[in-house]
Amino acid sequence: MKTLRTIATVRQSLAGRGRVGLVPTMGAFHEGHLALFRAAREECETVVVSLFVNPAQFAANEDLSRYPRDETRDAELAEEAGVDILLVPSAEEMYPDGYATWVDVEEIGAEGAARPGHFRGVATVCLKLFNIVQPQVAYFGQKDAQQAVLLLRMIRDLNVDLDLRIVPTVRDVDGLALSSRNAYLSERERRQALALPRALEAGRAANVEDSDPVAAVRGALNGLEPDYVELLDLDGIKILAAAARVGSTRLIDNVVLEGDLK
Ligand code: AMP
Repeated sequence: MKTLRTIATVRQSLAGRGRVGLVPTMGAFHEGHLALFRAAREECETVVVSLFVNPAQFAANEDLSRYPRDETRDAELAEEAGVDILLVPSAEEMYPDGYATWVDVEEIGAEGAARPGHFRGVATVCLKLFNIVQPQVAYFGQKDAQQAVLLLRMIRDLNVDLDLRIVPTVRDVDGLALSSRNAYLSERERRQALALPRALEAGRAANVEDSDPVAAVRGALNGLEPDYVELLDLDGIKILAAAARVGSTRLIDNVVLEGDLK
């Protein structure tokens, strides 16, 4: 595996590399990331993982400065998963002085409303990475379902020639969705956080019984403060999504109620 830090070297080394799969990440790898790397490894000749803690998707009051970073460990895990190129661009090259162009996908639901500017930063960095790497396929996690939906809209609306693959959420044995932000949780908070996946499962059960899944989630959060509980309907795919704070950590999760997010 090669670690590359400039756009020019990535472009050089990708010339003639067959079917290229890109996995955009912010690092602090866990099994959720590794599932995306393995999916890309199965389907593509060349697997590129980008590692960039994108300042444009953090609001001023969010956790950019304390976001977990461990490039050495990440490089080892990526290499073990069969990644060919780890792209670690600099913020200076991604957003040079005078940077002025943003991608704003409208109508993006409760997660977008809860984090103003967040999805603008996500859409912009992803389009930049798509232009830099020019992959045939890009891999994203169902864990960030609203992000996946937003990117599906962006590639449709802007005619980006790319297939998106959405990989199912990887969870710990007790059901908590793996997230780089779980590292912020104390032992007690880690236990409290379990209410989020459990409440979503209660929502799923309510939906099966034809009662209100959103009310069921709210009723089962066991004292966790929800930012929102939302039923998203994306062209027939129904996703029940929620965000909640556990101490100072904000966690998101979702379950698919109907259809297949792929
Ligand atoms: P991040 O590094 O948090 O920006 O995540 C990079 C990619 O990994 C995104 O497409 C996420 O949706 C995906 N991802 C994060 N956590 C999980 C998980 N538990 N299961 C599956 N994919 C995940």
